[in-house]
Amino acid sequence: MPRRSIYGHEKQLALLTGALEKNRIPHAYLFSGMTGVGKKTVAIALAKRIHCNNANVASFDACNRCPSCLKTDHHNHPDLLFLEPEGQFIRIKAIRDLQAQMQYQPLEGKNRIIIIDDADRMNITSANALLKTLEEPAPGNLLILVSGNPAGLPKTILSRCQQVRFSPLNRDTIASYLRDHHALEEEDAAMIAGASGGSLARAIEMVSGNYRAFRDKTLDDLMAMHDRDILKLLGFSAEFGKDREDITRKLAVIQSCYRDALVFRETRSEDSLINRDRMDVISSLIRRFDGTELLEHLRTVGQALLAIDQNANKALTLESMMFKLVHQRQQEA
Ligand SMILES: [Zn+2]
Repeated sequence: MPRRSIYGHEKQLALLTGALEKNRIPHAYLFSGMTGVGKKTVAIALAKRIHCNNANVASFDACNRCPSCLKTDHHNHPDLLFLEPEGQFIRIKAIRDLQAQMQYQPLEGKNRIIIIDDADRMNITSANALLKTLEEPAPGNLLILVSGNPAGLPKTILSRCQQVRFSPLNRDTIASYLRDHHALEEEDAAMIAGASGGSLARAIEMVSGNYRAFRDKTLDDLMAMHDRDILKLLGFSAEFGKDREDITRKLAVIQSCYRDALVFRETRSEDSLINRDRMDVISSLIRRFDGTELLEHLRTVGQALLAIDQNANKALTLESMMFKLVHQRQQEA
């Protein structure tokens, strides 16, 4: 059995399959949705399906065996082109080169498919050039724009693409991917899936970065802070690291833990907890804080995340956050 190549997005796949079946593929799609959910994977799968020599008309799956499918897998299908930013932006020269190629017939079949990744990263000149292509599409070409930030695209471009919106993946879908592809145990897969925020790419990054050890250390530091362990308190903000990305990740862990405490306090169910393998920490937070206080903590960490994101002074932001978390009224444990 071949491994599933696409996880989740059943509705989107059904929509695309319907269009294939009725032979009503538009000349341009926009695949939008948060980063790391598989928009580009679906775009490539659609290209593969369109190029496949033995595809079943009522299915989204390609045969995976014919020469076309093999070429797509090996990234050398001559009628599947990719365009992506070079540095900050998609260059105007890249768009012009593409337009020149689009004037010719596809090389192997009836269709040429062009996937434009991070399509919102076009400056105004590139966007205007692309708009021309969208206004007067040469037959036989399908453009698939992929974007995590469709609001960054000019309205004129948006209005000429059929938009397919991709949602964050649900926890079970990500967990099953991690079990299939990374041989994770049930519990680890569920924990990482919960913390990934619905992004498969983020989940995979967490697996390779040994997320569990990182999270456990952060949670231990958090509890030490609430225990007012003076030595730990002094080290707490210093240990957060200097790197903005690292700080953001730690803050996200802390946030997920307050969130879990709040959810568990209200529902008494472990099912939707992100850190359900750390009930020790979650229970301890519930003993210390009531719902209002937990909400306040969540807000405090959220504000720190926002400040760090907007390039505020890191040490000051973390110290002020810690001060608020420790001095908000605490109940006796
Ligand atoms: Zn095939």
